[in-house]
Order: sequence, then C-alpha cells, then structure tokens
Amino acid sequence: MKNKKIKCLILGLIIIGLIVIVYFFLKKNDTIDLDNKIDALSYNMKLDLDTKNKVLNEKVEMEIKNNTRKSIDEIVIRDMTKSLLKYYKENYNKESNNKSEILGIKENDIDLKYTIEKDSIVKVKLNKTLKPNDTVKINVSIKTDIPERQDRFGYIKRNDGYIYALSFCFPYLADNIDGKWILNPYFDDGENRSYDLADYEIEIKHPSDYLVIATGSEETNNGITKITAKNIRDIAIVLSDMYKKDSFEVEGIKINNYYLDSKYTEKYRKLTKLVIEESIKVYTDKVGKYPYDTLDIAPLLFGFGYGGMEYPSLIMTNATSFYDGTMMDAWSLHDGLTHEIGHQWFYGTVGNNEYSEGWIDEGFTTYLERQLFGLYDGEAHKYLREIDEYAPSIEDNIKSREELMETAREDYKDIYLNVSPDKYENDQSYGEAEYETSYIFIQEIRMAMGDEKFNKFLKDFYKTYYLKTVNTDMVLKLIREYDNSKKINEIIDFYFK
Ligand SMILES: [Zn+2]
Repeated sequence: MKNKKIKCLILGLIIIGLIVIVYFFLKKNDTIDLDNKIDALSYNMKLDLDTKNKVLNEKVEMEIKNNTRKSIDEIVIRDMTKSLLKYYKENYNKESNNKSEILGIKENDIDLKYTIEKDSIVKVKLNKTLKPNDTVKINVSIKTDIPERQDRFGYIKRNDGYIYALSFCFPYLADNIDGKWILNPYFDDGENRSYDLADYEIEIKHPSDYLVIATGSEETNNGITKITAKNIRDIAIVLSDMYKKDSFEVEGIKINNYYLDSKYTEKYRKLTKLVIEESIKVYTDKVGKYPYDTLDIAPLLFGFGYGGMEYPSLIMTNATSFYDGTMMDAWSLHDGLTHEIGHQWFYGTVGNNEYSEGWIDEGFTTYLERQLFGLYDGEAHKYLREIDEYAPSIEDNIKSREELMETAREDYKDIYLNVSPDKYENDQSYGEAEYETSYIFIQEIRMAMGDEKFNKFLKDFYKTYYLKTVNTDMVLKLIREYDNSKKINEIIDFYFK
C-alpha cells in the first residue's frame, strides 16, 4: 500500500516534470532566443593614435562566452577597417591612406590561425574547444591608416586644428544566433554594427592638447585617456584640439555639449542646448528613461546634406554650416540632432540588427523626431523659427505628415520593410525604406490603434526590450497584443513580406 502510493507519487512527478519540459521547449521555440549565443562579455582595448602618420594602433582583448548548447572550435571576428578604407578610396578621396592589417590574433600567448573572407570576416580557429558556458580571452592586434575624410572613421584638418572620428574601426565578435554567425557586409549608407551589449575598458594615447570625447565616461591625464563604458552596444571616440564645451543636466543626465568657435557659435550653442533639453524631456516622458549617466554631443564637419551619427551615449552632429558655411542651416541641425538623440532610445537602448532590420531603429527614431518632437511646440522650435526663416511651423509639419500619408500607399507599394539592403528589389533604397516607409507604417499603426493605445504600446515596447535586442517578429507580436484587429493586420501585411 505504502509502496504503491510512492510509486504513484513518483509517476505523477515524472508526468508533471515532462509537461514542464515540453512547455519550456515549446516556449523557447516560440520566438528566437537572442541570448542563446556566443557572447562577447567585455572588450579591453589599448589604442595608440599616431597623429603624425595618421595611424591607429589597436590591441583589443575580448572575453567571449559560449552561451549555446554546442561546443565550438571556431569564432568569427569582424574587422571593418579594410572595407571602410576601400569604400572611401573608391567613392571619395582616392589619394587617401588606405592600409589596414591584422598583426596577429592570440589566445593567451598562443598565436591562432585565422582566415579573412570578404575583407571583414575573420574566422579564427581556437586553440582549445570552447564548451558550453566556458569563456576564452582573444587578443587582436590591428594597425590601420586613418583616412582623410570627415565621417564615422577619419580625420579632417582646418586652420585651427584637427578633428578625429574613431568608430567602426574596432574589431568585435560577430553577432550570432545560437552560434550561427550573422555576416552582413560593410554598409556605408546605413549601419551594420554589432547589437550585442558588452562592457568596455579603453586606454587611448593621444596628443596631450586634444580633448577626448567617448561613449561612457572618460578621464584624461597627460595624453592618456581612460574610457569606461558598461552594458553598451558600440564605441566611438572623437578627438580634437578645436573643441570647447558646455555642460548641463537634463533629467538627471549629465550633458557635455561640445562646440567649435565660428561667427555662428552663440546661435549653435543656444539651439543645440534647447534641442537637447527638450528632446530628452519629451522622449523620457513619452517613451521612457534613458539608461546611462552621460550624453556627449560632438560637432563634426560632415559636409552639407549629411545628418549625424548615433552611438550609445554619444552623438556626432553635423556642424558644417555653422563652421564652414556662409549660410547657417539651423533647420537641418535642429531635425538632425533630435533624430540622433532619439536613437538613444531606439538603437542605443532597444537594439536591433541595423542592417537587415533597420526599419526598427530608423522608423521609431523618425517617429520620435517628426511626431513627438516635430509637433512639440517648445522653446527649441520657437528659437529655430527666430533664426531660420525657412523653418516650418508646427502646422506646416502636420501638413507635411498628412501629404506624405495621402500618397504613401501608392509611393511605397513595392517596398517591404523586412528585406535587408542586399535583397532590395525594384528601386527600393535605404533612405526610402528604412526612414520614410517605416515611419509611415508606424503612423498608420498609431492611427488605427488610436493615440491612447499606441502611446501605451510605445512605452511598453521600450520597457519590455530595455537594453535588450528585438527583431521584426517580436515588434509585430507586441503590436498585435495591443490590437489584433483586421485593420492592423492589413497594415502589417501591406508593409511586410
Ligand atoms: Zn537614424
């Protein structure tokens, strides 16, 4: 009798156990588990900026953990410098320096064998099999020329000094899903960075009269700057002997707003400060809290017609017309700066694959720029209208939105948002798809849901994926959780394949 009871109990427990296992197995397969990957936990970098020869020497140690269920013998590292230099040479400065080489890859002190494919894919054979849950430290040494071009990677010279932009030039572990490597090519029109969050410790040697601005926090002593950044997707460093800085606080975030001296400096300082203050307030209120303590804004001279560039806790904004130009383009600065600030929320905080699913960060950021900030009648907008006679009124902005929406279904009927740039059909272009069409998609969803429900969705989306990574399926699933009506599904079917 007693025995039978125990047997029944054991059998019952086994059945419950099996049900639990099956439940979790099914649940796991419901969406892609983006944490199930070979993960770069931290990067420790020693950098040496040689301004005489325009060369960057990099020693990068990455700590890598195998979070998959399989053992691995090989990892993939991305080094974009070759692709980047090649692109610059072909499309811009043909005379520019363009050499970049990997000097060696080591595990402890042992040299590792590696092969390079398509300029940027570095397949590294590990010395020892990396079992599930094991970690390994890999050291990569790179020496790269710095091209003369003001962009994400390069330098420019002006009468009063230099500006160096260092980004897209640091080697990193390729993103992967369950050990399957994602190997998108270098993409100059948009981005193709890692979306993985990691901790960074960096030491960079540079001329002692240069100011150093970087993602995370920085501390300079005698020409050596130490940079610390935690739980962050990417690194950028801007160095210059031309910068001055305004510091202020917004929503508890320390803002370092750098500027260049020119005849428009006072207008630049006032407009940028107002845009920064009000953008952060509006986005915090309507979307959620910014995750880091500081935000640095560095003015770069990208040239006319270029926007800015976003990094977590650092923005490169385009100050060309305020510094080089004879005509100050305040409107572009106003819109461009709030756009890059918006990326702190979508890209920096809620991350996604910027190459194959760029619609997520660009679409939501454009929504923040045009809807949340573009229709916000604050001091920044008032001041913009004061100094730029061409700048639109709030009513003009509403009208532009209506006009765009009126023809969108016809204009974008051949564009699908979940198509990566290498698979574009017809005349689909990155700007049209990832910015305009995705913005319209989000507007259509907002209008179908109604503002109240949509605003709740937006906050929930941000909170749910705060410092996590999303893909298209996850976003659409959440939209449908808020509204699974015929109308919403029709909109999704129209814009997605
Ligand atoms: Zn953008």
